[in-house]
Amino acid sequence: MLDNYGREINYLRVSLTDRCNLRCIYCMPEQGVEKKKHEDILRFEEVIKVVKTSTTLGIKKVRYTGGEPLIIPGIDRLIYDTSKIKNIEDVALTTNGILLSEVAEELKKSGLKRVNISLDTLNKRKYKSITRGGDLDKVIDAIDKCLTIGLNPVKINTVVIRGINDDEIKDFIRLSKELPVEVRFIQLMPIGEGAKLYDKGKMSFDEIIDDYPDLIPLMTDVSSTAKLFKLKNSKGKIGFISPVSCKFCSSCNKIRLTSTGALRPCLHSEEEINVKSYINNEIRLNAALRSAIMNKPMHHYFDAENNNKNGKMMFQIGG
Ligand code: SAM
Repeated sequence: MLDNYGREINYLRVSLTDRCNLRCIYCMPEQGVEKKKHEDILRFEEVIKVVKTSTTLGIKKVRYTGGEPLIIPGIDRLIYDTSKIKNIEDVALTTNGILLSEVAEELKKSGLKRVNISLDTLNKRKYKSITRGGDLDKVIDAIDKCLTIGLNPVKINTVVIRGINDDEIKDFIRLSKELPVEVRFIQLMPIGEGAKLYDKGKMSFDEIIDDYPDLIPLMTDVSSTAKLFKLKNSKGKIGFISPVSCKFCSSCNKIRLTSTGALRPCLHSEEEINVKSYINNEIRLNAALRSAIMNKPMHHYFDAENNNKNGKMMFQIGG
């Protein structure tokens, strides 16, 4: 379905929980978050209802995220049920990878096509410090496993923060030479805990691209959020995603669903439609989805006075 600005909306991103087994310094408060009541969180059957209804409006791709989606038992069943929905062409997952190597095979069998793994450093000590306690080896094992079993593509999401991991850009670029992965450098966004680090930590990717003349630009799909490059003879690719300085809103094709059942037309706008209370009412649900699509703002307002420094955080909306 086309929104008010002629964009085709075919992608639903679903946050399954706002809880996480890590506490990344730019994402989640150290003390974690107040636990939501069980009944406030969408059950898998409810998620499936929203996905099914959304396909009647043209949604073809679903990505499960969080919080950390893999802390929820039985996600393989959800992925299976999603992949069996008529017109769903692609089921993807964004995860920190900590629990992934144990379940990757099962998830692939259930219909998972591709995976994005968040990884901001290749240094064990720094990983522990950025994630406040995570074990880098588990993520490396997960990347290995996903490549071995043939999930494709495997993308590595790396949020670049000046003074914290910008010294490792070259190491991540080298990783993309050695492994068939797409390393995606993501600009820090002034959202949630990221807002506190933003002024010191923000970086423009143009300066990085200029520093690496060996990067060969690749053709990019019009709906892609990343500017893509590769090194000569490399197995993988490198993407730069600049949500703040280089808006890709004009080609944005997504809407979001939070774990508490709120439809969100845009990651960065506070507007939400809560559908939890009428999820069994097909007609109202359909109208709410339609409205979320039609009310997608033309673009986000990060760079304006009213950015959402005090609004919901990435782990609540689903990054
Ligand atoms: N737990 C999963 C993970 O780690 O990938 C999924 C949820 S996490 C919120 C999704 C993505 O959001 C991660 O890649 C994370 O790095 C990114 N993210 C969180 N806060 C961010 C911020 N302030 N700026 C940019 N990216 C952010």
